[in-house]
Amino acid sequence: RFDKKSLGVALVGLGSYSRGQLAPGLLETEHCHLAGIVTGTPAKAESWSKKYNIDKENIYNYENFDQIASNKNIDIVYVVLPNAMHADFCIRAAKAGKHVICEKPMAISVAECDAIIAACNKANVKLSVGYRLQSEPYTLEVKRIVREKVFGELRYVSADAGYNSRGNPDQWRLNYALSGGGALMNMGVYAIQSAIYGSGQNPTSVSAQEFSTRPEYFKDTDEAIAAQFEFPSGAVGNIFTSHNANVNRLYSAFDKGWVELNPANNYGPLSGRRSDGEIIKFPHKRQQSLQMDDFAKHILTGSLNRAPGEMGKRDMIIVEAIYESIKKNGVKID
Ligand code: NDP
Repeated sequence: RFDKKSLGVALVGLGSYSRGQLAPGLLETEHCHLAGIVTGTPAKAESWSKKYNIDKENIYNYENFDQIASNKNIDIVYVVLPNAMHADFCIRAAKAGKHVICEKPMAISVAECDAIIAACNKANVKLSVGYRLQSEPYTLEVKRIVREKVFGELRYVSADAGYNSRGNPDQWRLNYALSGGGALMNMGVYAIQSAIYGSGQNPTSVSAQEFSTRPEYFKDTDEAIAAQFEFPSGAVGNIFTSHNANVNRLYSAFDKGWVELNPANNYGPLSGRRSDGEIIKFPHKRQQSLQMDDFAKHILTGSLNRAPGEMGKRDMIIVEAIYESIKKNGVKID
């Protein structure tokens, strides 16, 4: 089935991320291409079909989506729907025998992550989470510095990810039933990711606090959260995520120096510097193209899956621990 060089991708949910990043990104990939779309909006089916030259046979809606099983043009289904819809469509994609990319956050609970992973294992298809930064060169350089102990032992990591949300109060991100949570579900997963690759360790316990300044706008979802992590080595982490502040930074402090990405989470180019005066600099490539090509290569050649489902589940375990800690003030992570 995979004796071809470029895999066909179907995007599910043609919102701003699919339109602004993933579809343009699929014009710049080498190992995969935009082959199909799944949308609940007939006008988008029409306009995307023209713009990207997509045959009618490769266009689905949410009701007839399961028929994608018999479509040989589609190898990968990329779920780009509101968070609470990820699990359902990832599981249906796996049952249809398609490899799956699931946008972040992977789902809205650990139980849903488990169900997605189980469905993909059962169907023998590959699964990754849309963590574009796992394929991004500045991020990979931070990982190298941590791994090779360029500045010695890590003592402290600080990771911030947030923006000031002032848009439509009816957007799904502010609706708990569709988002599963606020800043933490949306931007917090970047801060969690940063704290983990910026330290090279998974946290073993967390203590978290929630802050609210505009309850009339954030009726249903968390506005800002700070959390402190304890790592196995004894190092400490501090994350902050917000729908009310533009924060975008990773800072790792070691015995003999530090490394910083600022910005650390946006579509790039990112910017990095080190305590020894070295500037971190790489040519800019669209992160989403790098990410999707990495996953296609994983399928085609067995190369590393940079953002497997287990990673999305790990982060959701931490998200749940943070919410629990806010309620209980300090909760152990198993
Ligand atoms: P949008 O609101 O812009 O788009 C979501 C799309 O989902 C809609 O346009 C619609 O597409 C479809 N949809 C189906 N049912 C619903 C519903 N009940 N309410 C709203 N939309 C619905 O969201 P984004 O594109 O910004 O985000 C989608 C996912 O991608 C999220 O999980 C988000 O976290 C993730 N994301 C990841 C980013 C990253 O950098 N990795 C960046 C941005 C988002 P249609 O009309 O085709 O049916």
